[in-house]
Amino acid sequence: MFSRKAQSISPSPTLTIDAKAKQLKKEGVDVIGFGAGEPDFETPAHIKEAAVRAIEAGFTRYTPVAGIPELLEAVSQKLQKDNGLAYEPRNIVVANGAKHALCNALAALLNPGDEVVIPAPYWVSYPEMVKINDGVPVVIQTKKENNFCPSPEDLKQALTPKTKAIIINSPGNPTGQVYSKEQLQAIADFAVQHNLFVIADEIYEKLIYGDSEHVSIASLGEEIKKRTVLVNGVSKTYAMTGWRIGYSASTAEIAKIMSSIQSHATSHANSIAQKAAVAALTGPQDCVQEMKEAFDARRKTMVGKIRSIPGLSCIEPQGAFYLFVDVSSTFGRAYNGRTVNSSDDFAAALLEEKQVAVVPGTGFGAPDYIRLSYALATEQMLKGLERIAAFVRALA
Ligand code: PMP
Ligand code: GLU
Repeated sequence: MFSRKAQSISPSPTLTIDAKAKQLKKEGVDVIGFGAGEPDFETPAHIKEAAVRAIEAGFTRYTPVAGIPELLEAVSQKLQKDNGLAYEPRNIVVANGAKHALCNALAALLNPGDEVVIPAPYWVSYPEMVKINDGVPVVIQTKKENNFCPSPEDLKQALTPKTKAIIINSPGNPTGQVYSKEQLQAIADFAVQHNLFVIADEIYEKLIYGDSEHVSIASLGEEIKKRTVLVNGVSKTYAMTGWRIGYSASTAEIAKIMSSIQSHATSHANSIAQKAAVAALTGPQDCVQEMKEAFDARRKTMVGKIRSIPGLSCIEPQGAFYLFVDVSSTFGRAYNGRTVNSSDDFAAALLEEKQVAVVPGTGFGAPDYIRLSYALATEQMLKGLERIAAFVRALA
């Protein structure tokens, strides 16, 4: 009776787990949420103030579909300054979060049956977004040794006459990998050679630790720039998840199509949040550095503690705020008579027995893993790690 396509779309597991943890907390349960990737910090004061000023000035009406001119200008300058990319306002479309920008991009590029290559482990929403837009997700496995970056050989195996695009995400969710310039160059060469689009999700750009560096694939030459839709937003960098502002940069031709689609679906992003995003992008950036330092300290603690738990292992993330933990050596063991045979079982038992919320790897295309977000308060994090250690030690 209902749309077959719509019924094939599964709900976002990250948001589902986050909602469950928040609900339990509301009910008074002492739950620790390593679920959704949402910074625990407040949105910086100067950004909030810009929004208050917007309300008081009556900036509460429809705006241009692709965004207010000052925000398009701010994004254009940010891309030039941070990424060495020349994009004019007409290349940019502001959307209701990076999620929406990604959906607009796929809607603009795909014909029914077009294949989109998604390197696994991938962020949960990519395959579903491709399906929503009548495309076919083609998942390819990447290797830990290649910091989860697809090599040209990996990509070649997925190539068919229907391949239309590749989605890349660096720094990446859920593994925290950062692709090197050479790795990105190889993807760019492959895309240009086979005339493919690249959707580059750069939402975690500002959250890189150690010596790794962020490179925008679009900066690697005019040919790849023409084929790239760059997606970014303010959610993670400025602790603005609820404001729902993301943006894309692409050729003016693609931007125009994305804008037409958006004009019918949502018109534009919230007028007040757009003003706040201008303040975020053009205001002082020390808040970003402070949050990054806090994440980095948590990252180090997380890696140390997880590695000290016999049976768990993890790779050291270089970016974003997630730890991807291999729990497969616990499979077949039981907690209080309850057998753990998968990461779904592991996550369910951990939540019910120890009130700790984590996301099982199944939704990321990596069923041996669980994902822990370290975007939660440090005390909570330490308490949660103790509970995880106690849970794993009690597995028999
Ligand atoms: N891309 C990735 C990889 C993410 O983890 C997220 C998380 N929210 C998004 C895009 C979407 O961000 P938002 O819609 O909040 O801008
Ligand atoms: N992107 C974050 C995550 O992976 C937030 C939730 C979501 O948008 O899926 O947890």
